[in-house]
Amino acid sequence: MNYISTRDTNSEKYRVSSAQAIKMGLAPDGGLFMPEEIPTLSSNDIEKLRALPYNERAAQIMSMFLTDYSYDELLADCSAAYSEERFPGGAAPLRFIGNGTYSLELWHGPTCAFKDMALQLMPRLLSRALVKTGEKRTAQILVATSGDTGKAALEGYRDINQIRILVFYPEDGVSAIQKLQMTTQEGSNVRVCAIKGNFDDAQNGVKRIFADAEIADKLNDSNTFLSSANSINWGRLAPQIVYYISAYCDLVNRGDIFIGEKINVCVPTGNFGNIFAAYIARKMGLPIKKLICASNMNNVLTDFIETGIYDRNRVFHKTMSPSMDILISSNLERLIFLIAGAEKTAAYMKQLSEKGKYQVDSDILAEIKDVFCGYYCSEENTADIIRRYFNDGYLSDTHTAVGLFSADKYKKETGDQAKLVVASTASPYKFAADVCRSIDGGAHNDDIAAQKELFQISKMPVPAPLSRVLSLPIRFTQSVNPNDMADVVLDCAK
Ligand SMILES: *Cc1c(COP(=O)(O)O)cnc(C)c1O
Repeated sequence: MNYISTRDTNSEKYRVSSAQAIKMGLAPDGGLFMPEEIPTLSSNDIEKLRALPYNERAAQIMSMFLTDYSYDELLADCSAAYSEERFPGGAAPLRFIGNGTYSLELWHGPTCAFKDMALQLMPRLLSRALVKTGEKRTAQILVATSGDTGKAALEGYRDINQIRILVFYPEDGVSAIQKLQMTTQEGSNVRVCAIKGNFDDAQNGVKRIFADAEIADKLNDSNTFLSSANSINWGRLAPQIVYYISAYCDLVNRGDIFIGEKINVCVPTGNFGNIFAAYIARKMGLPIKKLICASNMNNVLTDFIETGIYDRNRVFHKTMSPSMDILISSNLERLIFLIAGAEKTAAYMKQLSEKGKYQVDSDILAEIKDVFCGYYCSEENTADIIRRYFNDGYLSDTHTAVGLFSADKYKKETGDQAKLVVASTASPYKFAADVCRSIDGGAHNDDIAAQKELFQISKMPVPAPLSRVLSLPIRFTQSVNPNDMADVVLDCAK
């Protein structure tokens, strides 16, 4: 199966293999890579998959998309990525939380956020892609992070052959836990550097470095090229399709649905990657009725699904679900492409970059509304839902809470009784202070202290990676001005 660009009307021009798509990240015309066609999943396939453990389900499903990887390669990588050691609570366990709702817990990995589901696997796929494409140079992964992605990428790429990783984070822009998680990072090919500035400074610095031909030349002299771990890479998207299909298998195995019965799926959304993976699963034939797109106060997607107008010109809110504080949801481009085609996609994306705004045609909007509905959740409602679910026996983090709120609202508005799966995207211990404050109303400001307080309240064990980080030695203390980021990149390649 080949991959094409979302903005290319002449699909021959950039047709590449899956290994090339993973290595390149972005198509040369600025579009995102998409498989030429979506493979289909029959009831028979689901029947077979439901007998398998997660790593084998993953290898089977990935092999439908990554046809230039052998099944044995994919099985080896999925087995390593989703091992018991890395995911002690299971890779993607499904928990019934009452009233026809299930929580698909995607945060039992090494960094306790759902990004691990993709970032434990993708580095292995990239490493193989380098071999498959005859690449002799070292790939240097460059990441600017506001917290979760940087740590998940560091854990995923550590000690992977022919790859190095460098993460920049804003010195005062991440939580105490997130900072510790990064500055204590283990591994021989990792480096972490703080920026005297905010996340935008870090991100703009990284973008400048990617666009700088002189830096590329210098790196090339050191046998190195730059690569990205960003969520628009197909290598990060494909592993996310797996857990929706896996959750469906688990529902069948529990005897809660019959094969073919339609379910609903609700996803707390930022960059639109996670929910787009669910859309692909649906397009493959997984019996999903509605996809519920849950946003926080940065509700650009709620408005888009309602009106067909995507408008990023609005106030940016800092919320207690920071991984969803996003005004440009990059992966939405893939949905537009599948519904409207490349020509329209290119035109809309041009308007987005020039005016920060576009409006899709009414027939396109109708197709989107047929599958998606969007809700958003205020800060007050987020706190309220955490407390209410906790009192009913389920502890959720701040991002998952936005999903639970939206799922409840959908059920109330529509009366739809179908089983509903909510993607649970982070451990409550990763956002312990906000979760504690939501539950008892007290003034919890220190995430590290709040871990203990949350344990006292909930008796749910603190995930080992989050307690362990407190006793690890700090390895990275470097902090630079945004203008000096390039020097750090070049120094890494020496
Ligand atoms: C990244 C992230 C999200 C948003 O996922 P997208 O794929 O960007 O929509 C939601 N919750 C958490 C905890 C995250 O880290």
